[in-house]
Amino acid sequence: MSSGYTKEKKVGEGTYAVVYLGKQVVTGRDIAIKEIKTGTFKDGLDMSAIREMKYLQELKHENVIELVDVFADKDKNLNLILEFLPSDLEMIINDKKIMIIPADIKSWMLMTLRGLHHCHRNGILHRDLKPNNLLISPEGYLKLADFGLARSLGHPNEKLTSNVVTRWYRSPELLFGAQHYSPAIDVWAVGIIFAELMLRTPYLPGKDDSDQLVVTFQALGTPTEEKWPGVSHLPHYNNLTVFPEPSRQELRNRFPAATELALDLMCGMLSLNPNNRLDTKACLLHPYFTESPEPTEPEKLPQKS
Ligand code: ADP
Repeated sequence: MSSGYTKEKKVGEGTYAVVYLGKQVVTGRDIAIKEIKTGTFKDGLDMSAIREMKYLQELKHENVIELVDVFADKDKNLNLILEFLPSDLEMIINDKKIMIIPADIKSWMLMTLRGLHHCHRNGILHRDLKPNNLLISPEGYLKLADFGLARSLGHPNEKLTSNVVTRWYRSPELLFGAQHYSPAIDVWAVGIIFAELMLRTPYLPGKDDSDQLVVTFQALGTPTEEKWPGVSHLPHYNNLTVFPEPSRQELRNRFPAATELALDLMCGMLSLNPNNRLDTKACLLHPYFTESPEPTEPEKLPQKS
């Protein structure tokens, strides 16, 4: 393959891409080659996506996957050369042999929010955060992957949508079809992932987009004009069943292992009105992170065997 990388073997296939293990010839280090098929872009190769990724490449952060290189090959497929990270948070959550303690959850949340804060501060939204986009290095560092890509990709075919592209991490403003979204969509997804780490099972697993709204509002209450001015004018808003906001006691019952501060932070990230949701800075300054227990050091976090 061109540009100084060898392709060794296929390691995975996602909705839009095939991923290979490879090596950077000059350094001999392992890299992942993510080949995104041109056909998956809405209008051919999306230059703005490439520009954004090139920009991200310069912004190194220990909690964001390193993008080593980006180029279009002769067949016009977009090739992303990434650091090779063999594990992700979804694998860990799903491996029932692994025990997860509150200090581990705090450590993964801290690393996720630090990576996200770095990207938001630089004007980049993720738009598709979920546990399998949070990759884990052999040293235990969590790194956000697939930044800036989600926006440029078209919808995959119907059949794939239901089980491959997950809607469980979508914020209410996205579900309502809001045109102008903000960094708050990513904070919502992190709040849902926080809940999933505590529950060890997906928090709001909607069966389709309209069920996703029902499941979300059953758990967190239906937004009203009073709590979220303008909500009734959003494109997909129509007469909703009105569920009451859960009481603090109901939340405690749903998350029995959570401390009061953990619940406060989760609720701040899961504010239905995006304007009231905490931003990444407020999340990072939240007293949950300074109360006991201290976050587990990355090297001591549980890893997939
Ligand atoms: P999805 O569409 O499920 O997000 P991707 O297209 O991102 O999946 O990747 C498909 C598979 O390739 C992943 O499930 C993972 O096993 C592997 N993979 C992706 N990125 C990397 C990486 N940087 N290092 C190692 N493996 C990776």
